[in-house]
Amino acid sequence: MTAPRADDVRVTRTATRMADGREIIYFDETADARRVLQDPRDLPPVIPASHVRYDVLLSEWVGIAGHRQTRTYHPPANACPLCPSTPTNQSEIPSPDYDVVVFENRFPSFAGTGEIAAGGGLFDSRPGNGRCEVVCFTSDHRATLSSLPAARVRTVIEAWADRTAALSAQPGVEQVFCFENRGVEIGVTLTHPHGQIYGYPFVTPKSAAAIRSAQAYRAATGANLFGDVLAGELADGARIVTKNDHWVAFVPFAARWPVEVHLYPRRHVRDLAALDNAERAALAELYLDAVRRMEGMFDDSLPAITGVHQAPVHAVDDDFWLHIEVFSIRRAVGKLKYLAGSESAMGAFVNDITPEVAARRLREVEMGGQ
Ligand SMILES: [Zn+2]
Repeated sequence: MTAPRADDVRVTRTATRMADGREIIYFDETADARRVLQDPRDLPPVIPASHVRYDVLLSEWVGIAGHRQTRTYHPPANACPLCPSTPTNQSEIPSPDYDVVVFENRFPSFAGTGEIAAGGGLFDSRPGNGRCEVVCFTSDHRATLSSLPAARVRTVIEAWADRTAALSAQPGVEQVFCFENRGVEIGVTLTHPHGQIYGYPFVTPKSAAAIRSAQAYRAATGANLFGDVLAGELADGARIVTKNDHWVAFVPFAARWPVEVHLYPRRHVRDLAALDNAERAALAELYLDAVRRMEGMFDDSLPAITGVHQAPVHAVDDDFWLHIEVFSIRRAVGKLKYLAGSESAMGAFVNDITPEVAARRLREVEMGGQ
């Protein structure tokens, strides 16, 4: 049987609850997949106790989630909480198999929909409302994202889009962030291929800064800043890595990381839920292409982070342009870039690789017929 193509995927969605009341949702590539809907475990209820505090010097919210110190840390492979359940390992997923599955994190940084009292002043603190979810990309513990077929990446994108719409509708959620940490060097505590989704109770600092820039650019030129950056990169070409009919991948002009690629849809959309079918299929193909190129750049493992940048839920203007940023802390074989004094203390990055050189090397990676 040949694997389905990325544009053939039709996802079947099955939602149920876990033993402690958390939601779990299967996204299956076949209509006849039978999933175990009963969680046999005896789990105590989740009692999240996070809150957020406002940093008045930087105008940024900071999450404080002390209860997460007890979370699962590097379990042995036969006790993986993200593998399908077996008679000897009752995992987070009761079914004996799955394609893609999403469930609420048992150790959430943000949870709840409670009323928020109006704060203010120099020491503003609020409940850490929101939602945190885990996305398992495959039931195969030893797979990696780049080893998955494009059809499976498309299913992950369908799950991301579904959760973006659902979390955007949850009271108190201000921004939905789908992301993946890859590699122990990044601090991943579970090696099973998976990502996460945060529904934040605030607009993240990076998005807030980009929105301020876009508003100023709109006021000065009447144009969309993101769209002009994309058009400029296409016109120049020196930093383009790969592209298709619907998406463009490039190394940003002021890249902070030695390996950093941004993926923009050619059409202006605010979030994943707004992508049409052709754009979702094309994203699966281009994302895999970009990640495989990045992994081919060094003869070494590539610890990396993928972040999906989406418009805040209650954005007052429509300029925000969905894009995906993928970057690595690898700067050479056997060497990692650590965020030290300048980056960590001052937020001032120094990149060891010229973006144009990085783009050329990424274009030249042999793709082995993929
Ligand atoms: Zn596993």
